[in-house]
Amino acid sequence: MKSKNLSATFRVMGWVGFYLLLTAPSLFLASADHAHSAFVIRHARVFDGHKVLAQADVWVDAGKIKAIGQDLKVPSDVKVVDATGDTLLPGLIDAHTHAFGNGLKEAEIFGVTTELDMFTDVRYMQQTKKDQADGKDLDLADLRSAGTLATAPGGHGTEYGIKIPTLSTPAEAQPWVDARIAEGSDYIKIVIDDASAYGSHRPTLDNATLKALVDAAHKRGKLAVVHIGRQVDARMVIEAGADGLAHLFLDTAPDPDFAHLVAAHHAFVVPTLDVLESVSNIASGESLTTDPNVAPYLTAEDITNLKRSFPPMSTHPSEKYAEQTVAQLKAAHVPILAGTDAPNPGTSHGASLHRELELLVRSGLTPEEALTSATSAPAARFHLDDRGVLAPGKRADLLLVKGDPMEDIKATRDIVSVWKVGVEDDRATYRASLEKAKQDAEKAIQAPPASGSDALLVSDFEDGTPNAKFGTGWMLSTDSLAGGKSTGDIKVVDGGANGGKHALEITGLIDAGLPYAWSGVMFSPGPQAFGAMDLSSRKSISFFAKGDGQTYRVLVFTTSGGRIPAQQSFTAGADWKKTTIPFASFNGTDGHDIMAILFVGGPAAGKFDFEIDDVKLE
Ligand SMILES: [Zn+2]
Repeated sequence: MKSKNLSATFRVMGWVGFYLLLTAPSLFLASADHAHSAFVIRHARVFDGHKVLAQADVWVDAGKIKAIGQDLKVPSDVKVVDATGDTLLPGLIDAHTHAFGNGLKEAEIFGVTTELDMFTDVRYMQQTKKDQADGKDLDLADLRSAGTLATAPGGHGTEYGIKIPTLSTPAEAQPWVDARIAEGSDYIKIVIDDASAYGSHRPTLDNATLKALVDAAHKRGKLAVVHIGRQVDARMVIEAGADGLAHLFLDTAPDPDFAHLVAAHHAFVVPTLDVLESVSNIASGESLTTDPNVAPYLTAEDITNLKRSFPPMSTHPSEKYAEQTVAQLKAAHVPILAGTDAPNPGTSHGASLHRELELLVRSGLTPEEALTSATSAPAARFHLDDRGVLAPGKRADLLLVKGDPMEDIKATRDIVSVWKVGVEDDRATYRASLEKAKQDAEKAIQAPPASGSDALLVSDFEDGTPNAKFGTGWMLSTDSLAGGKSTGDIKVVDGGANGGKHALEITGLIDAGLPYAWSGVMFSPGPQAFGAMDLSSRKSISFFAKGDGQTYRVLVFTTSGGRIPAQQSFTAGADWKKTTIPFASFNGTDGHDIMAILFVGGPAAGKFDFEIDDVKLE
């Protein structure tokens, strides 16, 4: 979504580099054994994507469903899974996500075996799709992606720090669409949103360019899916012939004829009630963080993010309008597709789709209709002909849950097993790895403070080295770890602040190649890099800086904030100047789990040069 207060989403989308830097892939590697062994799931209640079979057996062989029926006769070497009392569903499909980092892993853990990404980094899309085509990544949700989205210069989508090709005239539409298809986009995502629904303003595409984009996509056999902000935009988009809406609107109750308009144009709608709650200042994911079936499979950063929402907006957007619209769409038989917009504030990959099902039921869908919206409906509309239903010959993307979601939709969270192409996901190991990560983080925080860590002073550089009184000392950190080409150099120089002898000089060149480029110095308060430490007895970071007059950033990583740093900026002018920044202004941290503090240049490209001195936590 968007708003003028997009800082939260900016951080999510803008720090792909830090995700790459900090993601610990070893935690989440699939087991090497990808045997597509044959098995039969017996006595399950089966939701086949359309309807419920009270009890059936499902026989899986070589990654596909071989047969469905009563008391199937199978060879004796076929493993039997007794699913008495359980419900078997097609693997779920989330029809609106932004995939990067660990998102696809998190999705599959929660039974979401396919994600329809609606805007991500093109290189990430290409690499992931290549790996999946090579038969790798069976423990990750299958990715379909729009790649880059179509928006006006300065429009929604350009604020995340990923440099994207924009357009503004109908004549540019076909070349723009063709370039996306050449990059590997599976469908075309378009943004029509001037941000007025959120009390702000952004440029947006005009109607003629919208129509040209939709026509250009259709000319190449691709779907055109459109993000909208207001009801008038939604109507314009439907009349332009778009295949689907990527959100519902929150500015007004639906016009009485809204659903009929959508139905007459045979379009589908992905309401994304999760994120619309967030935009309405409701922390949509909060209840997931206390659900015993969900919480053990959430990372610390998921939990933090699920409890968040967008800040209140002057226009008071209301999720209730979207729920009313869903009810109207249902009555008009418009296909509704479940989507989350993860990982925007209030959402996380996988878990939030279960919340979306709950919200769709709250809006008036039956549980069967809600499950259809996350299985056969998106498969049909996105032409994923090999999945979304349980039938012979289809992929064995399966979700087995305890109990009966037709009685209580929340039963989808009580997961017994997840299979992708017949390979069972190792949820137990994943859960144990998360548990260990959380315990390690706790331990590190509870460990006795390292010697010297009670010092208010981190570094005055008077000993002529980049050492610190505690922690790791100052180390160079550049985006080369994330594939960038920015360079940097740190050295202790003569002439410190406050008449001191020395200061730390940081020089470098920010390369334009990465939109989230950085180069600078990093200090970790614990004994090793990114080891968390409890610094809650301090209230602020203070330091002296001088330099070439450019604006620089202080980044703070916390365990609870995950891999996304909070940031504040300062200007380094010709004379030494003291800056004091309260911990609280770094996303409200109380300092109890600080992993690292960085002083960096970027993302603006070019040379930089600044000095820091007398860095204190006080
Ligand atoms: Zn989105």
